[in-house]
Amino acid sequence: FGSLFIVPTPIGNLEDITLRAIRTLKEVDLIAAEDTRHSQKLLQHFAISTRLISLHDHNESQRATQLIEKLQQGTNIALISDAGTPLISDPGYGLVNQCRANNVEVIPLPGPCAAITALSGAGLATDRFRFEGFLPAKQQAKAQVLESIERETATSVFYESPRRVADTLQAIVDVLGCERRVVLAKELSKAFETFYSGSAGEALQWLHADSNHQRGEFVLMVAGHKMDVNDIPEEALKLLKLLMAELP
Ligand code: SAM
Repeated sequence: FGSLFIVPTPIGNLEDITLRAIRTLKEVDLIAAEDTRHSQKLLQHFAISTRLISLHDHNESQRATQLIEKLQQGTNIALISDAGTPLISDPGYGLVNQCRANNVEVIPLPGPCAAITALSGAGLATDRFRFEGFLPAKQQAKAQVLESIERETATSVFYESPRRVADTLQAIVDVLGCERRVVLAKELSKAFETFYSGSAGEALQWLHADSNHQRGEFVLMVAGHKMDVNDIPEEALKLLKLLMAELP
């Protein structure tokens, strides 16, 4: 059997590709890429001449079956996405799942990922975090996901597009209140990398203050909910009151 290599690629700065990623992409027989034209440029830059084949959201299940056959015949394949780590809000789950089911070796390489890069520079708690990927586009579904993090004590991490970021921040203000702390990490590893940290209300104002602030790719992080007296469950409060009454 061949192996499937999961190969992260840069999220904005070509220097972030690893030596192992370059060697792997050169050595494999085939590279499955989300957008072959986009990835061709990356491969050209690093003088990699391995053949590309497409694997995206719309052909993944059918393509995965073909690729499993090739892997079983001994072909070594690398999977890349347009940027960052494949499978992290990117295609590949179906393929990796089928590899595991068919005893095909999967070798994931460590490398760039926008969520991890953003978290490591945000100044929010990182001991526990909840990755939510992209929020749903529809208002009601978006509000539902946000409601689910209202009492989340871990830092929440979202991916967001420039078209939706202001709308999403408005939803955060509406559902979680304007005081909840957020950090926007924009254009990571690129020339105009920016971190904005403040309350949700301030961040919304910042986005509207200058149309440039809404341009680019975003990771949006929401600080965890701080426990206070109102978070003690009703039952526990009742019990506490009873105990207090019994105290001498
Ligand atoms: N697989 C990628 C990863 O490992 O981060 C994520 C792919 S997802 C389709 C694209 C989203 O990732 C963007 O909409 C944005 O939210 C985030 N992203 C990617 N590159 C970024 C960057 N340079 N700065 C900030 N966010 C970025």
